[in-house]
Amino acid sequence: MPIDLRSDTVTKPTPSMLEAMFSAAVGDDVFGDDPTVNALQEKAARLFGMEAALFCPSGTMTNQLAIRVHTQPGSEVICDTLSHIYLYEGGGIALNALSSVKLLTGDRGRINAAQIKDAINNPDDVHAPVSRLVSLENTMNKGGGCYYDLSAIEAIKEVCTQHSLALHLDGARLFNALVETNESPFDYGQAFDSISICLSKGLGCPVGSLLIGKTDFIKKARRFRKAMGGGWRQAGYLAAAGIYALDHHIQRLRDDHTRAKAIGHMLQPLPEVEEIYPIDTNIVIFRLPDSILATDYVAKLAQKGIAAVTFGKHLVRFVTHLDFTDMQLEELEKSLKKVI
Ligand SMILES: *Cc1c(COP(=O)(O)O)cnc(C)c1O
Repeated sequence: MPIDLRSDTVTKPTPSMLEAMFSAAVGDDVFGDDPTVNALQEKAARLFGMEAALFCPSGTMTNQLAIRVHTQPGSEVICDTLSHIYLYEGGGIALNALSSVKLLTGDRGRINAAQIKDAINNPDDVHAPVSRLVSLENTMNKGGGCYYDLSAIEAIKEVCTQHSLALHLDGARLFNALVETNESPFDYGQAFDSISICLSKGLGCPVGSLLIGKTDFIKKARRFRKAMGGGWRQAGYLAAAGIYALDHHIQRLRDDHTRAKAIGHMLQPLPEVEEIYPIDTNIVIFRLPDSILATDYVAKLAQKGIAAVTFGKHLVRFVTHLDFTDMQLEELEKSLKKVI
């Protein structure tokens, strides 16, 4: 069995999570009568102190639904150049929302209030797209899993309020940030108009993401989800995993962070490692010298039984997760020394 550090999406349900899934009460969610889906959505809304939530198959769908509802054709979305919504969602902003993007260069993917203020177009200038939405990502995947301070987000919220912009959070790994900062989901619920969280990443579910926001907003998102073919039926079996994860898998994210830092220590002495990004949560990104292509290095890792992904021409990413154990960590250390 290879040690799979490609992503925190690769986890399998634990026996207890599977048991919760097997015993879920289900109904037809298109008719709105799957009790477990409804319970998950209510639980998530309550957790963030927001009005409503929508259970969806992926974080791409929850982000894209949010962008679609917040914008109109010809709008502009302000985000960092490293954002998942821009880089990894199949051009969805153009495809689904017929909208433009204003890309900013933040600190490892984290943009600030002053930058955003400067990026807002004059609403009376017909040359410019209409600035409508700011989207933040926390933790920031391409920035190596770094996270925002809530105070920075509150300053951004103020700019958005002054300029009538909506504020969305791609919180695929928000709980990884929250266990580090000890901030609460409730504080985040007050700052954002909409929040997307992934259950299928560090929280260890097989499938699923949640979009959280106001009742009216979620009602519109539900309509677009249906039009995208995302209306699902006895999804309660999957929602049961989500409820289980929110109850049992948040605090343990700290273990993933500890193991990620341990990997950082293992990489430090290796001659082929030029730079390691600061390790703040469960993501480890490191740079190889110009003489080694990341694709070649990842192939060599695979020969040693380690699965990883390239994250640039000379960048490699490891992500720790629920199925990555201390025993595997020990094995990893031995294997890493023999890659080159
Ligand atoms: C994984 C991820 C998503 C959503 O991905 P899906 O595979 O569509 O669930 C969104 N944003 C970030 C930052 C992610 O890492």
